[in-house]
Amino acid sequence: TDALHVKGLHKTYANGFVALKGIDLRVEQGDFFALLGPNGAGKSTTIGIITSLINKTAGQVSVFGHDIDTALPDAQQCIGVVPQEFNFNIFEKVEDILYNQAGFYGLTRRQARDKIEYYLNRLSLWDRRHSPAKQLSGGMKRRLMIARAMVHEPKLLILDEPTAGVDLKIRRAMWDFISEINEKKGVTIILTTHYLEEAEQLCKNVAIIDAGQVITQTNMKSLLSQL
Ligand code: ADP
Ligand code: ADP
Repeated sequence: TDALHVKGLHKTYANGFVALKGIDLRVEQGDFFALLGPNGAGKSTTIGIITSLINKTAGQVSVFGHDIDTALPDAQQCIGVVPQEFNFNIFEKVEDILYNQAGFYGLTRRQARDKIEYYLNRLSLWDRRHSPAKQLSGGMKRRLMIARAMVHEPKLLILDEPTAGVDLKIRRAMWDFISEINEKKGVTIILTTHYLEEAEQLCKNVAIIDAGQVITQTNMKSLLSQL
């Protein structure tokens, strides 16, 4: 089974705008995959549909063999998502955000505790566990979103422009962390980016998307040799 299989995905927004015009993607288990394309290409729309935040107009999506139309809870259990924009309650404390997320996925408090401790330490947020999220810097908030996405140990981690607006030092630390969970834990990674450099540094395979269509899907080496 593929980690992700997307077939013929179409999206027309309520205002009539056609954002996706038949997207096909195949991402193998263990891959580190980039969805690369300019702003407005349809990357966030595609991610939104895969993670069931946005309704598709037509097409099929399955995650580790679980079709999102017929087995959504199974698909969701496989996915951790780091959205582009902060979407947690900023008045909530860091560790409460993580315990609530773990609860959503059915973990007991005890099961959650070890994982939360691990990810808070690994992402240098342990000292901030009692702080309300609003007191965190932008880079810390983004790391918190990654910790939250990992708390139920998903097999697929999807990150939408994970390093947009973060400075180089934090960007490198995030790259290291994402590479580590791909290599050591075997988590399949999909990230969207409009930086070729980011995709080039990290990813094994890539799909280039523009104006709601996949222009090419190939491995990074052969893409770079074509440029
Ligand atoms: P859906 O088709 O998934 O129900 P909608 O078309 O209803 O989505 O829009 C969802 C939200 O996105 C609305 O609040 C809308 O104002 C906002 N939105 C509308 N146009 C755009 C745009 N071009 N880019 C980003 N967000 C938009
Ligand atoms: P990307 O992530 O590649 O920048 P998006 O998927 O966010 O692209 O957007 C693709 C296109 O769909 C853009 O032209 C955007 O303005 C439009 N769009 C996004 N959300 C909405 C919405 N809710 N309603 C109408 N148009 C939207």
